[in-house]
Amino acid sequence: MFNLEQLSAAHPLASSYGWDAGYAESFAPFAEQGFLPGRIVRVDRGRVDAVVPDGDGVTTVLADTALVATSDPTRVPCTGDWAAVDLVNGPGGGVVRATLPRRTAFVRSTSSKRSEGQILAANVDHAVIAVSLAVELDLGRVERFVTLSWESGAQPLIVLTKADLVGDPVTLSHLVEDTQSTAPGVQVLAVSAATGEGLEVLAAVLAGGTAVLLGQSGAGKSTLANALVGTDVQDVRATRDQDGKGRHTTTTRDLLPLPGGGVLIDTPGLRGVGMWDAESGLTRTFSDIEELAAECRFHDCAHEAEPGCAVLEAVEHGVLAQRRLDSYRKLLRENQRIVAKTDARLRAEMRRTWKQQQMLGRHMMERKRGGGGQRR
Ligand code: GDP
Ligand code: ZN
Repeated sequence: MFNLEQLSAAHPLASSYGWDAGYAESFAPFAEQGFLPGRIVRVDRGRVDAVVPDGDGVTTVLADTALVATSDPTRVPCTGDWAAVDLVNGPGGGVVRATLPRRTAFVRSTSSKRSEGQILAANVDHAVIAVSLAVELDLGRVERFVTLSWESGAQPLIVLTKADLVGDPVTLSHLVEDTQSTAPGVQVLAVSAATGEGLEVLAAVLAGGTAVLLGQSGAGKSTLANALVGTDVQDVRATRDQDGKGRHTTTTRDLLPLPGGGVLIDTPGLRGVGMWDAESGLTRTFSDIEELAAECRFHDCAHEAEPGCAVLEAVEHGVLAQRRLDSYRKLLRENQRIVAKTDARLRAEMRRTWKQQQMLGRHMMERKRGGGGQRR
């Protein structure tokens, strides 16, 4: 029978797919029932590909999700989820019995009623926001992606791509500084897939967990993914799985192990993900404005024309850029529109489970850091 003890930090499920003590703790009751822990690497209507332990290695199995699919779209297993897999059909396939509580989740925003609240990726630690240096910096767009990332629970990281196209190092450092000033608490890295600049640093940051790549089309995400994975991602996606002993099944995956450790989730739908009730993400992205707002004379100050408004005063004194305040207002309005359109009951339900899960996730991660002495 499967023994949880065999999943040491050196086991590929941990070193390549992100299994850790926190997940082991929430999985314990399922281990007793003889189920295997599996990371979902791809979803396809009612079925998923999951990577499960197989002795000292891992193997990919096809598993049915009919037993966990509920009317709540946020509960449907998604790429990045950890699942309890029951290999009822022998080693070739199985059934997902449950998914472990999510630490983070990216949610699709759409006007289509049907896919409301659809989770695109779960348990993401790092949201890598690709911003091209080949075109003029659009800080408003950066703020939008940073907001989405915070909202998901993942730590944002901004990579300014195609750094080779900026000839002058002084100009480059100014661009990094400008970006930095719009994203408090977020690391900004200049990288170039062409010269390799910054890629080692990026790989080292991502080595500790699960990452996604976000950004506008043309920002250099595919090129970056290829550079990080070390092979053409398209080829890696449709891979001959030889991790397991003697098994050679062709499988496709949206979750790709990185050679330096860590794993990249690259699902086509995720890259240009939209806003979805990102109120707490906005608070985090614009923490500087929120801090100023606490100093406004009126508690419910809208920072429009009120006397004693600390936000407007900061703009007047050049402490806060008018552009940033406009961007904040624009994203707030956009968020309110989405919230108004979304079913209130679903939203409340989602928010509730989500916050619980995030709290649980943080608790687990803190325990992990405290106990295992893991460094970031
Ligand atoms: P995606 O749409 O975000 O996936 O962007 P791609 O990876 O397809 O890249 C868009 C374009 O930028 C392509 O023509 C790439 O060759 C180019 N590109 C990507 N990375 C770099 C880089 O580091 N330097 C330069 N000069 N061009 C790059
Ligand atoms: Zn104010």
